[in-house]
Amino acid sequence: MLEMPEAAKNKTYQVLIVGAGPTGLLLGILLKKYNISYLIIDKLSSIATTARAVMLHSGSLEIFDSIGILDKVIGKSIESKYISFYFNNYRKAIIDFSKIDSSHPFYLLIKQPDIERILLEKYLSLNGEISRGVNLYAIKYNDEYILSDANRLEESVLFESEYLVGCDGASSKVRSLAGIEMVGETLDFNYILAEGYTQETFSMHESSMYISDKGLLSVIPLPDGTMRIAGPCNFESLRTIDGVDELKSYYESALAKLNMQKNMRFIKYTQISKYTVHQKIAGSFRKGNIFLAGDAAHLHAPAGGQAMNTGFQDVWNLAWKLSFVISGKEDKNMLDTYEKERMPIANDVIQTANFFDFISKIRASETLNEMQDLDEICKSLARKISQNYMDYKTGSLNGKKSHYQIMTKFPMLKTEHQEFDSCSYIFVCRPDCRSLLPENMKWKTVFSDISTDNVDLKKSIGLLIRPDGYIIENFSLESIG
Ligand SMILES: Cc1cc2nc3c(=O)[nH]c(=O)nc-3n(C[C@H](O)[C@H](O)[C@H](O)COP(=O)(O)OP(=O)(O)OC[C@H]3O[C@@H](n4cnc5c(N)ncnc54)[C@H](O)[C@@H]3O)c2cc1C
Repeated sequence: MLEMPEAAKNKTYQVLIVGAGPTGLLLGILLKKYNISYLIIDKLSSIATTARAVMLHSGSLEIFDSIGILDKVIGKSIESKYISFYFNNYRKAIIDFSKIDSSHPFYLLIKQPDIERILLEKYLSLNGEISRGVNLYAIKYNDEYILSDANRLEESVLFESEYLVGCDGASSKVRSLAGIEMVGETLDFNYILAEGYTQETFSMHESSMYISDKGLLSVIPLPDGTMRIAGPCNFESLRTIDGVDELKSYYESALAKLNMQKNMRFIKYTQISKYTVHQKIAGSFRKGNIFLAGDAAHLHAPAGGQAMNTGFQDVWNLAWKLSFVISGKEDKNMLDTYEKERMPIANDVIQTANFFDFISKIRASETLNEMQDLDEICKSLARKISQNYMDYKTGSLNGKKSHYQIMTKFPMLKTEHQEFDSCSYIFVCRPDCRSLLPENMKWKTVFSDISTDNVDLKKSIGLLIRPDGYIIENFSLESIG
């Protein structure tokens, strides 16, 4: 356990991050590039070890690549390209990630505590400050600063900060103290989650969903050689069932009713639990200088393993904006774009993670046309779930109308391009247009043969890219001057 740094008591920070889960830790790492003061607090004394996320998609892998932890993450993972859907033991649909346009055309299966450990190690190696065992319970705020009241053991600790980011998970205290409501639904049946060694062996290189007329279960291989089998089983209420033995017998009797061809019984359980699924989004991602990110802002069904990945994209979007505003490079209006850009994406992820229509289609599809439809849905799901194709066309940078609001991701971010590690906007110029540039270019400039499906470059000389790799503008010579 890390001790509360003496200096943190009653100290003023530019940013206070509440929550050292995956979202808060990544935000901490990203802010390190900028010269601002901040602290992460967490009520837990160490990383939570409960079974939660296992899928890490290519959008997150690109971020991890840019902060130099991808190799470590790969070292703890299984690489996988497919999610297969079996109906009555016949593979009817397959989401194929190998075709996505990314330098990482796959997803990784890795246990969430391993991801958090690697993020924490990176954060600490950058001399990031973290105070554990500190439970936030009250805040007072006005337009300029926030006073956060927390306790650690018997002691009360007061933090003053300009900005507060609630990365404090599904039951976010920051969200409730800011008076932000969650909107959406809680599914009226529970999911079961069992891990261990199964009687029958399953592929270690794909995740699969086994569907029958009576229910469904996902089978996910884990890097330690065990299997996770999870899902709503047969939709019978699990509410009154509790305790490990009761859950095991529920699971085993559900299997008999499910009519699955594969034998999903466990020889040895390493864990079994049940959980509730929410499909909810915060009414707002911001209140004044208070922001929400990750599970504090949105909750999704587990299908496709997208929730934690969405939290990573939230802070990838927020970190540079906060830093630019704090350092005076941009005015405060830019912070409005965080919710504008991220909320539609989070809503979209809620829709994507609701697999029930897709499952009904899998059950019903028989004709060639219906099977082709399934194929098309799978292609679109691969793009969406990878979180590699998000665009921010609804967002407007800094509230100003640009020449050309694009906000799609620039493909060079997907290659080794150190310039994108910088903390500024970057102008990517066509090499043959070098001589056309003014001497006093206001942006750092790199030369590259630009190619992207989304931008017609015939009339342009270059693209302006944000620190998170999104194209802001497509420039003609007139607009450069
Ligand atoms: C069974 C299951 C399977 C899942 N599978 C996937 C998957 O495959 N892929 C995927 O992307 N997602 C998955 N998820 C979701 C994923 O686990 C969450 O999205 C992720 O943990 C959210 O990270 P976070 O940092 O936003 O919040 P959390 O991980 O909840 O972290 C919040 C942190 O805030 C701290 N905190 C809370 N309140 C306070 C307070 N008052 N003061 C100080 N600290 C506080 C907590 O101690 C915690 O450390 C799964 C979830 C479950 C339950």
